[in-house]
Amino acid sequence: MDQTTATQAAKPLPTVGDLHVDPHAYPDGIAFLDGQYLPMSQAKVSVLDWGFLHSDATYDTVHVWNGRFFRLDLHLDRFFGGLEKLRMTIPFDRDGVAEILHNCVALSGHRAAYVEMLCTRGASPTFSRDPRQAINRFMAFAVPFGSVANAEQLRRGLRVAISDKVRIPPASVDPSIKNYHWLDLVRGLYDAYDRGAETALILDFNGNVAEGPGFNVFCVKDGKLSTPAIGVLPGITRRTVFDLCVEEGLVAAAADVSVAALKAADEVFITSTAGGIMPVAEIDGAVIADGKVGPVTGRLMALYWQKHDDPAWSSQVTYP
Ligand code: PLP
Repeated sequence: MDQTTATQAAKPLPTVGDLHVDPHAYPDGIAFLDGQYLPMSQAKVSVLDWGFLHSDATYDTVHVWNGRFFRLDLHLDRFFGGLEKLRMTIPFDRDGVAEILHNCVALSGHRAAYVEMLCTRGASPTFSRDPRQAINRFMAFAVPFGSVANAEQLRRGLRVAISDKVRIPPASVDPSIKNYHWLDLVRGLYDAYDRGAETALILDFNGNVAEGPGFNVFCVKDGKLSTPAIGVLPGITRRTVFDLCVEEGLVAAAADVSVAALKAADEVFITSTAGGIMPVAEIDGAVIADGKVGPVTGRLMALYWQKHDDPAWSSQVTYP
């Protein structure tokens, strides 16, 4: 057994009672770290971990709704793809990771959960600067479900500002590796707050719209949907919108979306595992879709949540 396997191999599954979860600690959840299931409040990593020091990590987030994982296979595909591209290895295969995620949710008892799997470069035992010496670190956790848009924003649509910050280009960081390079997105968020908006969209290196902090964006014009093609995370919710469009006979394309095209759209919505399909009512102070949730957006939102009970799109969690 190599060192990674020795430190990370799963120990026997504890019972909920063994975990001594403090019901008042926030967030209420269960993590898997160094082969053990722990209450969230005890899940801590070294400050020498390259994930923390250099943002050298990849992760994925899947959600559980009504006690069912939504499209877990697609999230596992993206996570394992990221690991390979970053030359990271973990001592678990897909089934092993799926089992750990399942156990985190089951032990947490959450029926609506935000479930993250992540791997950091880790630290080297000698603090070497050579990333090949680092022992990669796999972790996972399940906490209560969270959404980019709150209930009121889902009803009336988000107020979004377009920042002039540029998303880190794909030639620097491959956006298909889900990552924590968020300084551009966070700076965009502050621009949005300064302008009285609730969240931000930032630009790609050509000045077209890219994505926002934790979400992709779509616009609808004359019944056709488009979403930025380059410099964005290929979101699973974005992919789900494409799949729903096929079912609904709607035309959807990944293409350049200019700032002008977004502002002139009939409808705009954002997509994320954290909240699903969420309407946008205002961009830079100008009203979109008469300030209402547009018909295409509303239809896709309803279908998206319906699919959460469909065994072809979701899988059951077994709770203790
Ligand atoms: N873009 C970025 C930068 C993200 O971080 C996320 C999700 O966290 C998304 C888009 C949406 O991706 P998904 O639909 O897979 O949650």
